Order: sequence, then structure tokens, then C-alpha cells
Amino acid sequence: MRRAPAASRHKARTKSDARSSSEASVWEAEAVAGSSSDDAQVVSELERVGVGLPPGLTISWLGVSGHRLTYEGTSIFIDPYVSRVPLRSLLLRRTAIPDVALIDRYASVAGRVAGVLVGHTHFDHAVDAPAIARRYGAKAYGSASLGHLMRLHGVGDLAVEVEPHRRYELGPFVVRFVPSRHSKLLFGRKVPMDGELTCDHLDGLAPGAYKCGTVYGIRIDVAGSSLYHQGSANLDDAELPSESVDVFLAGVAGRNFTPRYWERILPRLDPRVIVPTHYDNFFSPLGRPQDFVRRVELAALPAEIAAASTDARLAALPRIDSTKP
Ligand SMILES: [Zn+2]
Repeated sequence: MRRAPAASRHKARTKSDARSSSEASVWEAEAVAGSSSDDAQVVSELERVGVGLPPGLTISWLGVSGHRLTYEGTSIFIDPYVSRVPLRSLLLRRTAIPDVALIDRYASVAGRVAGVLVGHTHFDHAVDAPAIARRYGAKAYGSASLGHLMRLHGVGDLAVEVEPHRRYELGPFVVRFVPSRHSKLLFGRKVPMDGELTCDHLDGLAPGAYKCGTVYGIRIDVAGSSLYHQGSANLDDAELPSESVDVFLAGVAGRNFTPRYWERILPRLDPRVIVPTHYDNFFSPLGRPQDFVRRVELAALPAEIAAASTDARLAALPRIDSTKP
């Protein structure tokens, strides 16, 4: 296809930038850090509670919704995001791309990597997926927007646009993508940076260009155990089967914008353990003291869970930069 004349390309970009910029500033107001001693206290208590995984299965929390699961020498990554984008990059629309040194430090693993799974393509879930897929020669599984992002990085051959509910066998891991929704962080009415990722050049990949794309929850079965990863606190009730899991990796930012979130999702998942994620400030780098998404109110979690579920227990994973080597 022929490219549009430069003048109209510029016009289109300006309009889209203006919208992204206003969304970004609202997102910033809603989601940017606070530092609550209550939140820190809750986290330190929950970190002492064991998740209770089967022998040989390990899970690492990379921050935000990022996790690495390893079993018998094979690993998968979910929403890996260690090249944390500073707030000024959002405000100044600077390019947000993977930082190889940070991936070396926080997202390297011995053995085979059988896949990189991405639940949606906002920057705090998707920035590092192309680089980690390339590094390990692993396929990256997710939406059409993820496929587009992978092609921008020249690794489109490693992208798998998933079919909802299909079983993908990745070494010992069986994964299924469940159509889901993103919480409406913009005043409870709108998903920030909604729509498909359509940026046509790596240089244009400012944080606001990482549009959400299709949203998935991800079910993982391994070693006789099951986990469900929900990066953003919302769901599509009609798509989520009633099928119990052992561990619910629950993104908690923005949960108060989703009506009756816990009451709707917990009966379907019936988890044994709920592990809150996505409560750390996703603009501040790893390696610094952990601060929190504003108004994440972790101290309210036990009562919220108790109101919706009688027997799930809460536990937290220490973030990878706080783990002693
Ligand atoms: Zn998001």
C-alpha cells in the first residue's frame, strides 16, 4: 500500500497524539504512585504466607503483572516488563523499548523458554515480550496487537495470534487464553489507550502507542497444578468457565472500577490462593524501594476477599529485585 503524503501522516499523528496525551494524563492521575505504609505493611505480611506450589514448580514475580514460571528446566514468561518506562517517557512521548541490560539482570533464566504469554499490549505488559522472545527463540502468544508489535521488532515469525480457549502445549505447561476485559481506569468509563496497536515504526512506540488490543486472562496447567493470570481487574463473565484453579494471579489495580469484581470472578475460579499483582508503581525502576500504585488500598483486600469467598487465602510473592540471590 502507498504511504499517505507526509502532511496527512503528520495530521493523523497529531490528532492521535492529542487523544493519547489526554488519556495519559488521566491515567497518570489515577495510577501513579503513592507510598502508603499500610500497603507496605500488608505486602510484608502477605509475603510470609506461602503460595504452596507442587515440588519443582517455581514462580517469580517480575513486578507489575510479570511472572516467570519454571518447571523441570523449562520456563514461560507472562507479561514480562522489567524495562520499566519512566513517567517522563509517558508525558514526553519518548520511545519505550526493551532494555537488554535490565532483561539480562531480571528476566534471564537458565534452560529452555517455551513461550512468552501476553494478556494485553499496554506498555506495562508488553514492552519486553519481543526482546525476550528473540533472546530465547521462544514464541510469543497473544493478540493481533502483540503480533503487530513483534513485527515492528522484526520477530513476527515468533508471534502466535492465539485462538480463544485453545490448548497450547508449551513443554510441561498447557495454556489457554480466555477472552477478558480491561478495567475502565478512566473515571470508571473507559479503558485507557484502548483499541489496536497500529504504530507503524519502532521510533513511534511511545508508551501511549501501546494500545490495549484484545484482552485475555490466561489459564496455565502444570505439574498437576493450575494458575489463572488476570493482568487487569475485569472479566468477560460469559467467556470465563467455572473451572477451579489453585492460584489466582490477580492484577488488583483498578479493581474498584469494575462492579462486583471479586463477587463475579472468584466463584468461577474458586482459587485456593489469591496472589495480588500489579500494585507496584509501574513507572519506578526495579532495584529501588518498592512504591505503590495510588489508591491501590491493599489493606482492604482481606475484607474484599472474605466478602466474596470463604476459603481462599491471600499470599504475595516478593518482587524479583527484593529476592536475595
Ligand atoms: Zn493495561
